[in-house]
Amino acid sequence: MRISIVGTGYVGLSTGVGFAKKGNDVTCVDIVKGKVGKINSGESPIYEPFMEEYLREVVGNGKLKATMELLPAVSDTDITFISVPTPQSEDGSADLSYIERAARDIGRALKGKGGFHVVVVKSTVVPGTTEGTVIPALEEGSGKKAGTDFGVCMNPEFLREGRALEDFLKPDRVVIGSLDERGGDVIAGLYDNFDAPILRTDLKTAEMIKYAANSLLATKISFANEVGNICKRMGIDTYDVMKGVGMDSRISPSFLDSGAGFGGSCFPKDVAAIVAKGKELGCEPRILSNVIKVNREQRSIVAGLLEERAGGLEGKKVAVLGLAFKPESDDIREAPSIDIIRELKGKGARISAYDPQAMENMRELHPDISYEDDAASCINDADACLILTEWNDFKALSDTDFSRMKGNVIIEARKVLDPEKVKGFEGVCWPGNLGVEA
Ligand code: NAD
Repeated sequence: MRISIVGTGYVGLSTGVGFAKKGNDVTCVDIVKGKVGKINSGESPIYEPFMEEYLREVVGNGKLKATMELLPAVSDTDITFISVPTPQSEDGSADLSYIERAARDIGRALKGKGGFHVVVVKSTVVPGTTEGTVIPALEEGSGKKAGTDFGVCMNPEFLREGRALEDFLKPDRVVIGSLDERGGDVIAGLYDNFDAPILRTDLKTAEMIKYAANSLLATKISFANEVGNICKRMGIDTYDVMKGVGMDSRISPSFLDSGAGFGGSCFPKDVAAIVAKGKELGCEPRILSNVIKVNREQRSIVAGLLEERAGGLEGKKVAVLGLAFKPESDDIREAPSIDIIRELKGKGARISAYDPQAMENMRELHPDISYEDDAASCINDADACLILTEWNDFKALSDTDFSRMKGNVIIEARKVLDPEKVKGFEGVCWPGNLGVEA
């Protein structure tokens, strides 16, 4: 199939490269000139495992190209995916301005176009958005009728950053909500060569599945943190507890990791958006409101533990290892590290930081901290060390590395250090190998 993708970020690029790998002809559209240039030269504008390698392959064999020209990209294809941002507005609701603009532009491109075209919303949008915002903008731009003159689908994306391509190419399920049967059939056909069950729904149900799934995953993390904070006070390793809990087939072991809490461009904004939508409809989503609150407070618990163990932070050097909201990603959007560094600075600490991929992004938000070339330089002469992302590199750290520190406070907010290699470290929700209770 000939596919255009409007918005070439983490989701759009993974979708484009994934469909190109499956043999389709893909045109990626973005408004950022630098991104388009990089993609066309086979260079990935984001860090994701295998992205650069696959991108080089599909650009090289002519299966994928990028452009800033939306109109011809849509006119020359049969299917258009929308994967522009849906960020959080000040009141917590989703900002739909990007998606509305993209839909209107796509509509204009459909105006004089022959053949049956399907527009697919892949961005995460609150239930009712495809019907209430996207379809009116497409119809206004095109002067055509959705569902008869062109098809409309909602195909939420469930990929995880750090394994975006793997998740895209091997999804647990594909959800296709459609306005019209014909459009839904075209998109189901596109996923024919994916080894995944396909669930067909209406538009609103597909939109809600994405929010319900993300909200439940975020709830599991806040739940794990709440239980973890109790475990910590009793000297219990919450990871041993959650291992026992997760062995229950009704629960599953995933997303029960306590620590610094969730971040990223999805969970925080998606939970906030569904809370806002619920309130708008007269519901009070108490569980989900507290999922956000527990997550926010967990960041202060991390900073507070470090401060307490270091006996105050005024003038002390704190080495922060890990800035990205998760390993194998350069994404720092809503990362716990942002708030924790701000809080540590507020308590008078001097911060040195290291992350294998995310330092350039963090420099814009925290320009006044020092960024080091590797973990060893970051730790050097530090009074305290805090680990915020479970990068594999940090698993290899040993007492020899930490002997470069001036002090001896080592706190991990992600379970990463090897107790065989490092003596005397402590977890935020688990004893570490110090065995101390909070
Ligand atoms: P992103 O910010 O990484 O990428 C969005 C891209 O859209 C940017 O490159 C931006 O320049 C481009 N853009 C904005 N307006 C445009 C326009 N009018 N025309 C063309 N390009 C335009 O965002 P993302 O992380 O890929 O997320 C996109 C959507 O997918 C969001 O709704 C998000 O919630 C959802 N989602 C994200 C993830 C994830 O892990 N990142 C996973 C599932 C779903």
